[in-house]
Amino acid sequence: SMDRRLKYTENSKKQVLVVDDESVNRQLLGYIVGNEYDVIYAEDGVDALEKIQLNQETLNMILLDLLMPRMDGFELLEILKSNESLKHIPVIVLTADKSAEVKALRMGAADFITKPYDMPEVILTRIARIIELAEDRMIIKATERDELTGLYTRDYFIEYCQELDQFYPEWEMDAIAVDIGHFHLINELYGRSYGDEVLRLLADTFREILSSIADGYVCRYEADKFYIYCTHLDDHRKMLDRIEQALADFTQNQQRFRIRFGVYPNVERGVEMAQRFGRARLACNSIRNNFMENIAYYDMEIHENSIYEERLINDIHDALANRDLVVYYQPKYNVTGDLPVLTSSEALIRWRHPELGMISPGAFIPLFEKNGLIQLLDHYVWDEAASQIRRWKDELGKSVPVSVNVSRMDLYDPELENKLLKLIADYDITPQDFLLEITESAYAEDTGQLIEVVDRLRADGFKVEMDDFGSGYSSLNMLTTLPIDVLKMDMKFVRHVHKDAKSKRMIELVIDIADYLSVPVVAEGVEEEEQVSILKNAGCQIIQGYYFSVPLPPEDFTELLSGER
Ligand code: C2E
Ligand code: CA
Ligand code: CA
Repeated sequence: SMDRRLKYTENSKKQVLVVDDESVNRQLLGYIVGNEYDVIYAEDGVDALEKIQLNQETLNMILLDLLMPRMDGFELLEILKSNESLKHIPVIVLTADKSAEVKALRMGAADFITKPYDMPEVILTRIARIIELAEDRMIIKATERDELTGLYTRDYFIEYCQELDQFYPEWEMDAIAVDIGHFHLINELYGRSYGDEVLRLLADTFREILSSIADGYVCRYEADKFYIYCTHLDDHRKMLDRIEQALADFTQNQQRFRIRFGVYPNVERGVEMAQRFGRARLACNSIRNNFMENIAYYDMEIHENSIYEERLINDIHDALANRDLVVYYQPKYNVTGDLPVLTSSEALIRWRHPELGMISPGAFIPLFEKNGLIQLLDHYVWDEAASQIRRWKDELGKSVPVSVNVSRMDLYDPELENKLLKLIADYDITPQDFLLEITESAYAEDTGQLIEVVDRLRADGFKVEMDDFGSGYSSLNMLTTLPIDVLKMDMKFVRHVHKDAKSKRMIELVIDIADYLSVPVVAEGVEEEEQVSILKNAGCQIIQGYYFSVPLPPEDFTELLSGER
Protein backbone atom coordinates (compact mmCIF):
# COMPACT_ATOMS: atom_id res chain seq x y z
CA SER A 1 0.00 0.00 0.00
CA MET A 2 0.95 3.64 -0.30
CA ASP A 3 1.55 3.93 3.47
CA ARG A 4 3.96 1.11 3.40
CA ARG A 5 5.99 2.72 0.68
CA LEU A 6 6.00 6.02 2.50
CA LYS A 7 7.73 4.29 5.38
CA TYR A 8 10.78 3.86 3.20
CA THR A 9 11.03 7.40 2.04
CA GLU A 10 10.50 9.40 5.18
CA ASN A 11 13.50 10.41 7.17
CA SER A 12 12.33 9.48 10.65
CA LYS A 13 13.95 6.62 12.52
CA LYS A 14 13.12 3.12 11.43
CA GLN A 15 11.16 0.96 13.81
CA VAL A 16 12.39 -2.28 15.37
CA LEU A 17 10.46 -4.68 17.58
CA VAL A 18 12.48 -6.59 20.18
CA VAL A 19 10.77 -9.79 21.29
CA ASP A 20 12.31 -11.54 24.30
CA ASP A 21 10.81 -12.95 27.50
CA GLU A 22 13.82 -11.96 29.61
CA SER A 23 13.81 -8.31 30.52
CA VAL A 24 17.59 -8.11 30.82
CA ASN A 25 17.94 -9.28 27.21
CA ARG A 26 15.35 -6.75 26.05
CA GLN A 27 17.24 -3.99 27.84
CA LEU A 28 20.57 -5.04 26.45
CA LEU A 29 19.29 -5.13 22.85
CA GLY A 30 17.46 -1.89 23.39
CA TYR A 31 20.71 -0.38 24.52
CA ILE A 32 22.54 -1.58 21.42
CA VAL A 33 20.00 -0.53 18.76
CA GLY A 34 18.20 2.29 20.60
CA ASN A 35 20.46 5.03 19.20
CA GLU A 36 19.67 4.28 15.61
CA TYR A 37 16.21 2.83 15.76
CA ASP A 38 12.88 3.52 17.30
CA VAL A 39 12.49 0.42 19.53
CA ILE A 40 9.31 -1.22 20.80
CA TYR A 41 9.23 -4.33 22.97
CA ALA A 42 7.20 -7.52 23.43
CA GLU A 43 7.50 -10.15 26.17
CA ASP A 44 6.35 -13.23 24.28
CA GLY A 45 4.86 -14.41 20.99
CA VAL A 46 1.28 -13.44 21.76
CA ASP A 47 2.29 -9.98 22.90
CA ALA A 48 4.53 -9.70 19.82
CA LEU A 49 1.80 -10.63 17.37
CA GLU A 50 -0.43 -7.95 18.83
CA LYS A 51 2.26 -5.30 18.54
CA ILE A 52 3.14 -6.41 15.01
CA GLN A 53 -0.44 -6.12 13.86
CA LEU A 54 -0.73 -2.75 15.49
CA ASN A 55 2.44 -1.43 13.86
CA GLN A 56 2.45 -3.33 10.57
CA GLU A 57 2.58 -0.20 8.41
CA THR A 58 5.61 1.22 10.19
CA LEU A 59 7.55 -1.76 11.48
CA ASN A 60 10.85 -2.35 9.66
CA MET A 61 12.32 -5.28 11.57
CA ILE A 62 11.59 -7.91 14.22
CA LEU A 63 14.35 -9.21 16.49
CA LEU A 64 12.92 -12.49 17.74
CA ASP A 65 13.95 -14.72 20.61
CA LEU A 66 13.08 -18.33 19.89
CA LEU A 67 12.49 -19.83 23.32
CA MET A 68 9.59 -18.13 25.04
CA PRO A 69 6.54 -19.12 27.05
CA ARG A 70 3.00 -18.78 25.62
CA MET A 71 3.86 -18.59 21.91
CA ASP A 72 7.49 -19.35 21.00
CA GLY A 73 9.51 -17.83 18.17
CA PHE A 74 8.92 -20.69 15.75
CA GLU A 75 5.16 -20.48 16.13
CA LEU A 76 5.25 -16.72 15.61
CA LEU A 77 7.45 -17.10 12.53
CA GLU A 78 5.00 -19.56 11.06
CA ILE A 79 2.10 -17.19 11.59
CA LEU A 80 4.00 -14.22 10.15
CA LYS A 81 5.14 -16.03 7.03
CA SER A 82 1.69 -17.30 6.21
CA ASN A 83 0.12 -13.88 6.59
CA GLU A 84 0.00 -11.88 3.35
CA SER A 85 0.25 -8.50 5.01
CA LEU A 86 2.89 -9.40 7.60
CA LYS A 87 5.26 -11.65 5.73
CA HIS A 88 7.22 -8.77 4.22
CA ILE A 89 8.50 -7.68 7.66
CA PRO A 90 11.98 -9.16 8.04
CA VAL A 91 12.78 -11.24 11.13
CA ILE A 92 16.20 -11.80 12.68
CA VAL A 93 16.22 -14.60 15.23
CA LEU A 94 18.15 -14.37 18.50
CA THR A 95 19.53 -17.67 19.72
CA ALA A 96 22.39 -19.48 21.35
CA ASP A 97 21.46 -22.75 19.70
CA LYS A 98 23.13 -23.51 16.37
CA SER A 99 20.57 -26.13 15.24
CA ALA A 100 17.69 -23.71 15.85
CA GLU A 101 19.31 -21.18 13.53
CA VAL A 102 19.02 -23.44 10.51
CA LYS A 103 15.43 -24.29 11.28
CA ALA A 104 14.54 -20.62 11.72
CA LEU A 105 16.19 -19.65 8.42
CA ARG A 106 14.29 -22.41 6.69
CA MET A 107 11.07 -21.02 8.15
CA GLY A 108 11.66 -17.62 6.64
CA ALA A 109 13.86 -15.76 9.10
CA ALA A 110 16.17 -13.39 7.26
CA ASP A 111 19.22 -13.82 9.48
CA PHE A 112 20.29 -14.70 13.00
CA ILE A 113 22.25 -13.13 15.84
CA THR A 114 24.02 -15.30 18.34
CA LYS A 115 23.76 -14.80 22.06
CA PRO A 116 25.50 -13.53 24.09
CA TYR A 117 25.59 -10.14 22.37
CA ASP A 118 29.24 -9.33 22.49
CA MET A 119 29.70 -7.39 19.25
CA PRO A 120 27.21 -4.52 18.94
CA GLU A 121 28.72 -3.41 15.59
CA VAL A 122 28.01 -6.75 13.98
CA ILE A 123 24.43 -6.67 15.23
CA LEU A 124 23.83 -3.17 13.91
CA THR A 125 25.34 -3.98 10.54
CA ARG A 126 23.21 -7.08 10.14
CA ILE A 127 20.06 -5.25 11.03
CA ALA A 128 20.82 -2.41 8.64
CA ARG A 129 21.63 -4.77 5.80
CA ILE A 130 18.48 -6.83 6.23
CA ILE A 131 16.26 -3.76 6.40
CA GLU A 132 17.78 -2.47 3.21
CA LEU A 133 17.29 -5.78 1.43
CA ALA A 134 13.67 -5.95 2.54
CA GLU A 135 13.06 -2.44 1.33
CA ASP A 136 14.49 -3.17 -2.08
CA ARG A 137 12.25 -6.18 -2.40
CA MET A 138 9.22 -4.17 -1.40
CA ILE A 139 9.94 -1.47 -3.93
CA ILE A 140 10.33 -4.04 -6.66
CA LYS A 141 7.10 -5.72 -5.71
CA ALA A 142 5.27 -2.45 -5.43
CA THR A 143 6.20 -1.30 -8.90
CA GLU A 144 5.87 -4.51 -10.85
CA ARG A 145 2.14 -4.23 -10.83
CA ASP A 146 -0.15 -1.27 -11.05
CA GLU A 147 -1.98 -0.96 -7.75
CA LEU A 148 -5.36 -0.09 -9.17
CA THR A 149 -5.72 -2.70 -11.87
CA GLY A 150 -3.15 -5.32 -10.93
CA LEU A 151 -1.76 -5.10 -14.46
CA TYR A 152 1.96 -4.86 -15.11
CA THR A 153 3.48 -1.43 -14.98
CA ARG A 154 5.16 -0.14 -18.10
CA ASP A 155 8.80 -1.07 -17.45
CA TYR A 156 8.03 -4.60 -16.34
CA PHE A 157 5.63 -5.02 -19.21
CA ILE A 158 8.31 -4.04 -21.72
CA GLU A 159 10.71 -6.48 -20.10
CA TYR A 160 8.22 -9.35 -20.18
CA CYS A 161 7.40 -8.61 -23.80
CA GLN A 162 11.07 -8.83 -24.66
CA GLU A 163 11.26 -12.12 -22.83
CA LEU A 164 8.27 -13.39 -24.79
CA ASP A 165 10.07 -12.41 -28.00
CA GLN A 166 13.10 -14.44 -27.00
CA PHE A 167 11.02 -17.51 -26.22
CA TYR A 168 8.95 -17.31 -29.38
CA PRO A 169 11.02 -15.55 -32.01
CA GLU A 170 8.82 -16.97 -34.78
CA TRP A 171 5.50 -15.63 -33.48
CA GLU A 172 3.80 -12.80 -35.33
CA MET A 173 2.94 -10.14 -32.77
CA ASP A 174 0.86 -6.94 -32.65
CA ALA A 175 1.58 -3.92 -30.47
CA ILE A 176 -1.64 -2.17 -29.49
CA ALA A 177 -2.23 1.15 -27.74
CA VAL A 178 -5.65 1.59 -26.18
CA ASP A 179 -7.08 4.95 -25.24
CA ILE A 180 -10.33 6.04 -23.61
CA GLY A 181 -11.76 9.24 -25.02
CA HIS A 182 -12.23 12.06 -22.51
CA PHE A 183 -11.56 9.94 -19.49
CA HIS A 184 -10.94 13.02 -17.34
CA LEU A 185 -14.54 14.00 -17.95
CA ILE A 186 -15.71 10.65 -16.62
CA ASN A 187 -13.75 11.31 -13.44
CA GLU A 188 -15.10 14.82 -13.19
CA LEU A 189 -18.71 13.91 -13.83
CA TYR A 190 -19.05 10.69 -11.91
CA GLY A 191 -16.21 10.83 -9.40
CA ARG A 192 -12.84 9.17 -9.13
CA SER A 193 -14.02 5.91 -7.67
CA TYR A 194 -16.36 5.42 -10.59
CA GLY A 195 -13.47 6.15 -12.94
CA ASP A 196 -11.37 3.60 -11.05
CA GLU A 197 -14.08 1.01 -11.48
CA VAL A 198 -14.13 1.61 -15.21
CA LEU A 199 -10.35 1.14 -15.36
CA ARG A 200 -10.52 -2.09 -13.37
CA LEU A 201 -13.30 -3.35 -15.60
CA LEU A 202 -11.15 -2.63 -18.64
CA ALA A 203 -8.19 -4.42 -17.05
CA ASP A 204 -10.34 -7.48 -16.34
CA THR A 205 -11.66 -7.47 -19.88
CA PHE A 206 -8.16 -7.26 -21.34
CA ARG A 207 -7.10 -10.21 -19.20
CA GLU A 208 -10.11 -12.14 -20.39
CA ILE A 209 -9.33 -11.28 -24.03
CA LEU A 210 -5.75 -12.44 -23.58
CA SER A 211 -6.94 -15.81 -22.40
CA SER A 212 -9.38 -16.28 -25.26
CA ILE A 213 -8.97 -14.24 -28.43
CA ALA A 214 -5.19 -13.79 -28.39
CA ASP A 215 -2.10 -14.55 -26.34
CA GLY A 216 0.08 -11.95 -24.70
CA TYR A 217 0.54 -9.26 -22.07
CA VAL A 218 -1.23 -6.07 -21.11
CA CYS A 219 -0.17 -3.09 -19.01
CA ARG A 220 -1.49 0.25 -17.87
CA TYR A 221 1.16 2.70 -18.94
CA GLU A 222 -0.64 5.89 -17.99
CA ALA A 223 -3.80 6.84 -16.16
CA ASP A 224 -6.27 5.89 -18.86
CA LYS A 225 -3.99 4.32 -21.44
CA PHE A 226 -3.15 0.67 -21.94
CA TYR A 227 -0.68 -1.29 -24.02
CA ILE A 228 -1.28 -4.80 -25.28
CA TYR A 229 1.34 -7.05 -26.82
CA CYS A 230 -0.30 -10.11 -28.32
CA THR A 231 -0.32 -12.66 -31.08
CA HIS A 232 -1.24 -11.23 -34.46
CA LEU A 233 -4.87 -10.88 -35.53
CA ASP A 234 -6.08 -9.85 -38.96
CA ASP A 235 -8.94 -7.91 -37.47
CA HIS A 236 -9.11 -6.31 -34.04
CA ARG A 237 -12.80 -5.53 -34.23
CA LYS A 238 -13.64 -8.56 -32.11
CA MET A 239 -11.37 -7.34 -29.34
CA LEU A 240 -12.86 -3.89 -29.38
CA ASP A 241 -16.40 -5.31 -29.46
CA ARG A 242 -15.69 -7.32 -26.35
CA ILE A 243 -14.55 -4.19 -24.52
CA GLU A 244 -17.44 -2.07 -25.71
CA GLN A 245 -19.85 -4.80 -24.64
CA ALA A 246 -18.31 -5.01 -21.15
CA LEU A 247 -18.62 -1.24 -20.76
CA ALA A 248 -22.19 -1.21 -22.02
CA ASP A 249 -23.12 -3.95 -19.54
CA PHE A 250 -21.39 -2.11 -16.74
CA THR A 251 -23.11 1.20 -17.36
CA GLN A 252 -26.35 -0.45 -18.45
CA ASN A 253 -26.06 1.55 -21.64
CA GLN A 254 -26.19 4.79 -19.67
CA GLN A 255 -22.86 6.16 -20.87
CA ARG A 256 -21.06 5.95 -24.14
CA PHE A 257 -17.32 5.53 -23.98
CA ARG A 258 -15.14 5.95 -26.98
CA ILE A 259 -12.37 3.37 -26.92
CA ARG A 260 -9.66 3.80 -29.53
CA PHE A 261 -7.22 1.16 -30.72
CA GLY A 262 -3.95 2.03 -32.38
CA VAL A 263 -2.33 -1.08 -33.81
CA TYR A 264 1.18 -1.64 -35.06
CA PRO A 265 0.51 -5.00 -36.66
CA ASN A 266 3.04 -7.72 -37.19
CA VAL A 267 5.84 -5.86 -35.50
CA GLU A 268 9.30 -5.80 -36.99
CA ARG A 269 11.69 -7.48 -34.59
CA GLY A 270 14.38 -4.94 -35.43
CA VAL A 271 12.31 -2.13 -33.95
CA GLU A 272 12.82 -1.66 -30.22
CA MET A 273 9.98 -2.72 -27.96
CA ALA A 274 9.22 0.75 -26.59
CA GLN A 275 9.26 2.14 -30.11
CA ARG A 276 6.75 -0.43 -31.28
CA PHE A 277 4.30 1.00 -28.79
CA GLY A 278 5.26 4.50 -29.84
CA ARG A 279 4.09 3.51 -33.33
CA ALA A 280 0.88 2.02 -31.97
CA ARG A 281 0.28 5.26 -30.12
CA LEU A 282 0.84 7.35 -33.24
CA ALA A 283 -1.80 5.26 -34.98
CA CYS A 284 -4.09 5.71 -32.01
CA ASN A 285 -3.62 9.48 -32.00
CA SER A 286 -4.25 9.69 -35.72
CA ILE A 287 -7.97 9.03 -35.12
CA ARG A 288 -8.34 11.22 -32.05
CA ASN A 289 -10.54 13.63 -33.99
CA ASN A 290 -11.98 11.17 -36.45
CA PHE A 291 -15.13 9.83 -34.89
CA MET A 292 -15.83 7.46 -37.75
CA GLU A 293 -12.92 5.20 -36.91
CA ASN A 294 -12.07 3.49 -33.63
CA ILE A 295 -9.24 1.28 -34.85
CA ALA A 296 -6.23 2.64 -36.70
CA TYR A 297 -3.25 0.79 -38.10
CA TYR A 298 0.28 2.09 -38.28
CA ASP A 299 0.98 2.47 -41.98
CA MET A 300 3.30 4.21 -44.43
CA GLU A 301 1.46 7.51 -44.19
CA ILE A 302 1.66 7.67 -40.42
CA HIS A 303 5.25 6.51 -40.61
CA GLU A 304 6.29 9.25 -43.03
CA ASN A 305 4.35 11.87 -41.18
CA SER A 306 6.00 10.94 -37.91
CA ILE A 307 9.43 11.08 -39.50
CA TYR A 308 8.61 14.51 -40.88
CA GLU A 309 7.41 15.70 -37.48
CA GLU A 310 10.48 14.30 -35.78
CA ARG A 311 12.58 16.20 -38.27
CA LEU A 312 10.77 19.45 -37.50
CA ILE A 313 11.14 18.95 -33.75
CA ASN A 314 14.77 18.15 -34.27
CA ASP A 315 15.43 21.18 -36.47
CA ILE A 316 13.55 23.85 -34.54
CA HIS A 317 16.43 24.79 -32.26
CA ASP A 318 18.76 25.33 -35.19
CA ALA A 319 16.04 27.30 -36.93
CA LEU A 320 15.74 29.64 -33.97
CA ALA A 321 19.50 30.06 -33.72
CA ASN A 322 19.94 30.61 -37.47
CA ARG A 323 16.93 32.89 -37.70
CA ASP A 324 15.28 30.68 -40.30
CA LEU A 325 12.02 31.61 -38.66
CA VAL A 326 10.69 34.79 -40.15
CA VAL A 327 7.81 36.87 -38.91
CA TYR A 328 5.46 38.11 -41.61
CA TYR A 329 2.97 40.90 -41.09
CA GLN A 330 -0.53 40.98 -42.50
CA PRO A 331 -2.22 44.39 -42.42
CA LYS A 332 -5.61 45.01 -40.86
CA TYR A 333 -7.70 47.80 -42.31
CA ASN A 334 -10.31 49.94 -40.68
CA VAL A 335 -13.20 50.11 -43.16
CA THR A 336 -15.58 52.43 -41.34
CA GLY A 337 -14.61 55.50 -43.36
CA ASP A 338 -14.73 56.15 -47.10
CA LEU A 339 -11.27 54.77 -47.64
CA PRO A 340 -9.78 51.80 -45.82
CA VAL A 341 -7.08 52.81 -43.34
CA LEU A 342 -4.24 50.54 -42.28
CA THR A 343 -4.53 50.39 -38.49
CA SER A 344 -2.49 47.43 -37.32
CA SER A 345 -1.14 44.07 -38.38
CA GLU A 346 -0.93 40.46 -37.31
CA ALA A 347 2.42 38.75 -36.84
CA LEU A 348 2.44 35.34 -38.54
CA ILE A 349 5.38 33.03 -38.43
CA ARG A 350 7.01 31.37 -41.43
CA TRP A 351 9.79 28.82 -41.48
CA ARG A 352 12.31 29.15 -44.27
CA HIS A 353 13.81 25.71 -43.91
CA PRO A 354 17.20 25.36 -45.63
CA GLU A 355 16.29 21.94 -47.04
CA LEU A 356 12.53 21.57 -46.86
CA GLY A 357 11.76 25.03 -48.18
CA MET A 358 9.03 27.30 -46.88
CA ILE A 359 6.92 25.60 -44.22
CA SER A 360 3.57 27.05 -43.25
CA PRO A 361 2.65 27.30 -39.58
CA GLY A 362 -0.20 24.84 -40.09
CA ALA A 363 2.46 22.13 -40.40
CA PHE A 364 4.33 22.88 -37.19
CA ILE A 365 2.23 25.01 -34.83
CA PRO A 366 -0.16 22.20 -33.81
CA LEU A 367 2.83 19.90 -33.40
CA PHE A 368 4.68 22.32 -31.13
CA GLU A 369 1.50 23.02 -29.22
CA LYS A 370 1.43 19.35 -28.30
CA ASN A 371 5.01 19.09 -27.08
CA GLY A 372 5.43 22.49 -25.47
CA LEU A 373 7.96 23.92 -27.93
CA ILE A 374 5.33 26.47 -28.92
CA GLN A 375 6.40 28.72 -26.06
CA LEU A 376 9.92 29.05 -27.45
CA LEU A 377 8.47 29.94 -30.78
CA ASP A 378 5.95 32.42 -29.49
CA HIS A 379 8.59 34.20 -27.43
CA TYR A 380 10.72 34.47 -30.53
CA VAL A 381 7.84 35.96 -32.48
CA TRP A 382 6.96 38.41 -29.71
CA ASP A 383 10.54 39.56 -29.52
CA GLU A 384 10.78 40.01 -33.28
CA ALA A 385 7.50 41.91 -33.34
CA ALA A 386 8.53 44.19 -30.48
CA SER A 387 11.82 45.05 -32.12
CA GLN A 388 10.00 45.67 -35.42
CA ILE A 389 7.57 48.05 -33.71
CA ARG A 390 10.57 49.91 -32.28
CA ARG A 391 12.16 50.20 -35.73
CA TRP A 392 8.97 51.53 -37.35
CA LYS A 393 8.77 54.16 -34.63
CA ASP A 394 12.40 55.13 -35.13
CA GLU A 395 12.62 54.94 -38.90
CA LEU A 396 9.14 55.97 -40.02
CA GLY A 397 7.92 57.83 -36.98
CA LYS A 398 4.86 55.56 -37.01
CA SER A 399 3.21 53.52 -34.31
CA VAL A 400 1.54 50.52 -35.86
CA PRO A 401 0.22 48.07 -33.31
CA VAL A 402 1.00 44.41 -33.95
CA SER A 403 -1.13 41.51 -32.80
CA VAL A 404 0.73 38.41 -31.79
CA ASN A 405 -0.74 34.97 -31.27
CA VAL A 406 -0.74 33.72 -27.68
CA SER A 407 -1.04 29.98 -27.27
CA ARG A 408 -2.89 28.22 -24.53
CA MET A 409 0.35 27.06 -23.03
CA ASP A 410 1.63 30.63 -22.73
CA LEU A 411 -1.40 31.46 -20.64
CA TYR A 412 -0.52 28.82 -18.08
CA ASP A 413 2.99 30.20 -17.73
CA PRO A 414 3.08 32.07 -14.39
CA GLU A 415 5.80 34.29 -15.85
CA LEU A 416 3.73 35.42 -18.84
CA GLU A 417 2.86 38.85 -17.46
CA ASN A 418 6.45 39.55 -16.39
CA LYS A 419 7.82 38.41 -19.71
CA LEU A 420 5.51 40.70 -21.67
CA LEU A 421 6.16 43.66 -19.39
CA LYS A 422 9.90 43.13 -19.66
CA LEU A 423 9.63 42.87 -23.43
CA ILE A 424 7.90 46.21 -23.89
CA ALA A 425 10.26 47.80 -21.39
CA ASP A 426 13.30 46.40 -23.24
CA TYR A 427 12.17 47.91 -26.53
CA ASP A 428 10.67 50.98 -24.94
CA ILE A 429 7.26 50.47 -26.51
CA THR A 430 3.82 50.52 -24.85
CA PRO A 431 1.27 47.81 -24.15
CA GLN A 432 -1.00 49.61 -26.62
CA ASP A 433 1.46 48.74 -29.38
CA PHE A 434 1.05 45.07 -28.65
CA LEU A 435 -2.21 43.19 -29.15
CA LEU A 436 -2.66 39.67 -27.88
CA GLU A 437 -4.70 37.21 -29.93
CA ILE A 438 -6.05 34.35 -27.87
CA THR A 439 -8.00 31.67 -29.63
CA GLU A 440 -11.53 30.99 -28.47
CA SER A 441 -10.79 27.35 -27.70
CA ALA A 442 -8.24 28.41 -25.08
CA TYR A 443 -10.98 30.21 -23.19
CA ALA A 444 -13.13 27.13 -23.09
CA GLU A 445 -10.61 25.02 -21.26
CA ASP A 446 -10.17 26.47 -17.81
CA THR A 447 -12.16 29.64 -17.79
CA GLY A 448 -11.60 30.68 -14.20
CA GLN A 449 -7.84 30.73 -14.26
CA LEU A 450 -7.74 32.17 -17.74
CA ILE A 451 -9.97 35.08 -16.95
CA GLU A 452 -7.67 35.98 -14.08
CA VAL A 453 -4.61 36.01 -16.34
CA VAL A 454 -6.33 38.00 -19.06
CA ASP A 455 -7.71 40.48 -16.52
CA ARG A 456 -4.21 41.18 -15.23
CA LEU A 457 -2.82 41.67 -18.73
CA ARG A 458 -5.61 44.09 -19.56
CA ALA A 459 -4.98 45.97 -16.33
CA ASP A 460 -1.40 46.39 -17.57
CA GLY A 461 -2.78 48.01 -20.70
CA PHE A 462 -2.59 45.15 -23.20
CA LYS A 463 -5.51 44.75 -25.59
CA VAL A 464 -6.86 41.24 -25.98
CA GLU A 465 -8.43 39.90 -29.16
CA MET A 466 -10.47 36.74 -29.11
CA ASP A 467 -9.34 34.82 -32.19
CA ASP A 468 -11.45 32.38 -34.21
CA PHE A 469 -14.60 33.52 -32.46
CA GLY A 470 -17.57 31.37 -33.37
CA SER A 471 -15.54 28.21 -33.84
CA GLY A 472 -17.92 26.90 -31.27
CA TYR A 473 -16.29 26.58 -27.90
CA SER A 474 -17.66 29.26 -25.65
CA SER A 475 -21.09 29.20 -24.15
CA LEU A 476 -23.27 32.28 -24.19
CA ASN A 477 -23.02 32.56 -20.45
CA MET A 478 -19.25 32.49 -20.63
CA LEU A 479 -19.21 35.15 -23.30
CA THR A 480 -20.79 37.77 -21.12
CA THR A 481 -18.11 37.40 -18.48
CA LEU A 482 -15.13 37.31 -20.83
CA PRO A 483 -12.59 40.06 -20.53
CA ILE A 484 -11.84 41.00 -24.14
CA ASP A 485 -11.30 44.09 -26.24
CA VAL A 486 -11.85 42.80 -29.76
CA LEU A 487 -13.75 39.91 -31.36
CA LYS A 488 -12.10 38.31 -34.34
CA MET A 489 -14.62 36.17 -36.09
CA ASP A 490 -13.84 32.74 -37.37
CA MET A 491 -12.86 32.61 -41.03
CA LYS A 492 -15.49 30.03 -41.86
CA PHE A 493 -18.28 32.61 -41.64
CA VAL A 494 -16.45 34.93 -44.01
CA ARG A 495 -15.69 32.25 -46.55
CA HIS A 496 -19.27 31.76 -47.69
CA VAL A 497 -20.80 35.03 -46.66
CA HIS A 498 -21.41 36.17 -50.22
CA LYS A 499 -22.79 32.79 -51.23
CA ASP A 500 -25.15 31.59 -48.56
CA ALA A 501 -27.67 33.21 -46.30
CA LYS A 502 -26.77 31.21 -43.23
CA SER A 503 -23.20 32.52 -43.08
CA LYS A 504 -24.54 36.00 -43.45
CA ARG A 505 -26.90 35.53 -40.52
CA MET A 506 -24.02 34.10 -38.46
CA ILE A 507 -21.98 37.21 -39.16
CA GLU A 508 -24.81 39.43 -38.07
CA LEU A 509 -25.09 37.37 -34.92
CA VAL A 510 -21.39 37.75 -34.13
CA ILE A 511 -21.63 41.48 -34.69
CA ASP A 512 -24.68 41.61 -32.38
CA ILE A 513 -22.71 39.86 -29.67
CA ALA A 514 -19.79 42.24 -30.18
CA ASP A 515 -22.20 45.20 -29.88
CA TYR A 516 -23.54 43.75 -26.68
CA LEU A 517 -19.98 43.46 -25.35
CA SER A 518 -19.16 46.92 -26.76
CA VAL A 519 -16.12 45.67 -28.66
CA PRO A 520 -15.19 46.03 -32.35
CA VAL A 521 -15.24 43.09 -34.76
CA VAL A 522 -12.36 42.00 -36.98
CA ALA A 523 -13.04 39.80 -39.99
CA GLU A 524 -10.16 37.78 -41.42
CA GLY A 525 -9.80 35.63 -44.49
CA VAL A 526 -11.51 38.24 -46.63
CA GLU A 527 -10.63 37.69 -50.28
CA GLU A 528 -13.41 39.23 -52.38
CA GLU A 529 -14.79 42.71 -52.81
CA GLU A 530 -18.29 41.34 -52.27
CA GLN A 531 -17.30 39.99 -48.87
CA VAL A 532 -15.92 43.39 -47.91
CA SER A 533 -19.12 45.21 -48.72
CA ILE A 534 -21.35 42.70 -46.94
CA LEU A 535 -19.14 42.82 -43.85
CA LYS A 536 -19.00 46.58 -43.93
CA ASN A 537 -22.76 46.90 -44.23
CA ALA A 538 -23.28 44.46 -41.38
CA GLY A 539 -21.20 46.71 -39.13
CA CYS A 540 -17.80 45.05 -39.14
CA GLN A 541 -15.11 47.65 -38.48
CA ILE A 542 -11.81 45.96 -39.28
CA ILE A 543 -10.86 43.67 -42.15
CA GLN A 544 -7.84 41.47 -42.72
CA GLY A 545 -7.32 39.24 -45.73
CA TYR A 546 -5.88 38.61 -49.15
CA TYR A 547 -8.30 41.17 -50.57
CA PHE A 548 -6.06 43.83 -49.06
CA SER A 549 -2.81 41.95 -48.70
CA VAL A 550 -1.25 38.60 -48.02
CA PRO A 551 1.06 38.40 -44.98
CA LEU A 552 4.22 40.32 -45.95
CA PRO A 553 7.87 39.91 -45.03
CA PRO A 554 9.10 42.81 -42.85
CA GLU A 555 10.75 44.71 -45.74
CA ASP A 556 7.57 44.67 -47.81
CA PHE A 557 5.42 45.68 -44.89
CA THR A 558 7.75 48.57 -44.15
CA GLU A 559 7.37 49.68 -47.75
CA LEU A 560 3.59 49.47 -47.49
CA LEU A 561 3.73 51.58 -44.34
CA SER A 562 5.91 54.23 -45.93
CA GLY A 563 3.35 54.59 -48.71
CA GLU A 564 0.55 55.31 -46.24
CA ARG A 565 -0.06 59.01 -45.73
P1 C2E B 1 -4.76 32.49 -37.38
O1 C2E B 1 -4.24 33.12 -36.15
O2 C2E B 1 -6.23 32.33 -37.48
O3 C2E B 1 -4.18 33.30 -38.59
C1 C2E B 1 -4.86 33.60 -39.74
C2 C2E B 1 -4.47 32.73 -40.89
O4 C2E B 1 -5.24 33.05 -42.03
C3 C2E B 1 -3.01 32.90 -41.33
O5 C2E B 1 -2.56 31.64 -41.76
C4 C2E B 1 -3.16 33.84 -42.52
O6 C2E B 1 -2.06 33.77 -43.40
C5 C2E B 1 -4.41 33.28 -43.14
N1 C2E B 1 -5.07 34.24 -44.01
C6 C2E B 1 -5.03 35.58 -43.96
N2 C2E B 1 -5.80 36.14 -44.91
C7 C2E B 1 -6.36 35.12 -45.60
C8 C2E B 1 -7.28 35.04 -46.71
O7 C2E B 1 -7.75 36.02 -47.25
N3 C2E B 1 -7.63 33.81 -47.14
C9 C2E B 1 -7.16 32.68 -46.56
N4 C2E B 1 -7.54 31.50 -47.05
N5 C2E B 1 -6.29 32.71 -45.51
C10 C2E B 1 -5.90 33.92 -45.03
P2 C2E B 1 -1.14 31.13 -41.39
O8 C2E B 1 -0.16 32.25 -41.42
O9 C2E B 1 -0.90 29.93 -42.23
O10 C2E B 1 -1.31 30.71 -39.89
C11 C2E B 1 -2.13 29.64 -39.53
C12 C2E B 1 -2.30 29.57 -38.06
O11 C2E B 1 -1.07 29.28 -37.41
C13 C2E B 1 -2.75 30.88 -37.45
O12 C2E B 1 -4.13 31.02 -37.56
C14 C2E B 1 -2.31 30.73 -36.03
O13 C2E B 1 -3.25 29.98 -35.32
C15 C2E B 1 -1.06 29.93 -36.18
N6 C2E B 1 0.11 30.82 -36.07
C16 C2E B 1 0.75 31.54 -37.00
N7 C2E B 1 1.79 32.20 -36.46
C17 C2E B 1 1.79 31.91 -35.13
C18 C2E B 1 2.62 32.26 -34.01
O14 C2E B 1 3.56 33.03 -34.10
N8 C2E B 1 2.29 31.73 -32.81
C19 C2E B 1 1.23 30.89 -32.66
N9 C2E B 1 0.98 30.39 -31.45
N10 C2E B 1 0.45 30.54 -33.67
C20 C2E B 1 0.73 31.03 -34.89
CA1 CA C 1 -4.47 34.90 -35.03
CA1 CA D 1 -7.96 33.32 -36.66
